[in-house]
Amino acid sequence: MLYKIYKKLLKYFGPQGWWPIGGIYNPFKKCFSEKEKFEVMVGAILTQNTAWNNVEKALSNLRRANLLDIKKISKINSRKLETLIKPSGFYKQKAVRLKNFVNSVRPIGLIENMSREEWFRINGIGPETADSILLYALGKPYFVVDAYTKRLVNRLGIFNSEKYEEIREFFEKNIPRSIEIYKEYHALIVALAKNFCKKNPECKNCPILKDCKYGMSKMRKKN
Ligand code: SF4
Repeated sequence: MLYKIYKKLLKYFGPQGWWPIGGIYNPFKKCFSEKEKFEVMVGAILTQNTAWNNVEKALSNLRRANLLDIKKISKINSRKLETLIKPSGFYKQKAVRLKNFVNSVRPIGLIENMSREEWFRINGIGPETADSILLYALGKPYFVVDAYTKRLVNRLGIFNSEKYEEIREFFEKNIPRSIEIYKEYHALIVALAKNFCKKNPECKNCPILKDCKYGMSKMRKKN
């Protein structure tokens, strides 16, 4: 069922590409350089509780100041860092999180071998941020669960849980174990949530209406 939904979403929205580097999506790029991986990691921290366009502004500031570098973030004055990342919101908290992150993982070679559990030990890195980094920057097969994913599975009526780990495992057990599919599926869920499965869902034209318990019951009530 979950894989069938993936195929329908892919057909409807088309490939979403993967993480933008330098603000540009390149769906054909399979490997990131060390610098690009670091940019994805910083983006994953800055995107906590904010929309991506705000993150882009903060990343542009860091790029322009030539600070997208683990050592430079570690050394930069906290006030200056706060100013540069201000567009991403919660900037004081995020500056602390960025500093914690770079000071915990230096040198960068260490990052590749860090387990999921080690990521959780870094203050300010929760499961969604850790899995975003593991999947998008490091190419490890962990499905990213966000608020949109939780909302979707519960509305579909195929899995009833609000717990991050349970939902992640549910996806990982029911779709092919593929890094590309995990990346694409997460992006497609975001596209669905932005276009149809909003807080107040617009079910009538949703591409997966027939697979959705909530949507079908809503339609029945209307008729
Ligand atoms: S039918 Fe409605 S509730 Fe179901 S996934 Fe689509 S928009 Fe969301």
